Amino acid sequence: MAGELILIIEDNEKNRRLARDVLQVKGYRTIESETAEEGLKLAAEQAPALILMDIQLPGMDGITAMKRLKADRNTRSIPIIAITASAMTNNRQAMLAEGFDGYQTKPISLKDFLREVQRVLLAGGNSEE
Ligand code: MN
Repeated sequence: MAGELILIIEDNEKNRRLARDVLQVKGYRTIESETAEEGLKLAAEQAPALILMDIQLPGMDGITAMKRLKADRNTRSIPIIAITASAMTNNRQAMLAEGFDGYQTKPISLKDFLREVQRVLLAGGNSEE
């Protein structure tokens, strides 16, 4: 399956470009924002099939943004993958416990990254009410 729209929320241009390039090569469509605030707007307007959420962002952080999206009935069904720079303070279990649907560390490993994107797209978002 390809062609799904994926929203990349990431303030680092190099990381954003890498995610965009690898996703587009695989046939996904992408939109991007550098801040959580802009990302929330794009998510509501464009209803992406998946969101990649950097945790450390200027202004609102990625965990807060994820919780806002999950609290909003218009965006709660969109699955969200946490992208964390540090493996020290954040780990998969902690991020999933916060409410994320998937998890990847930076720098991303292309194979693991694409596998996680596909897995989460197939599993869908958290449908708990
Ligand atoms: Mn960042």
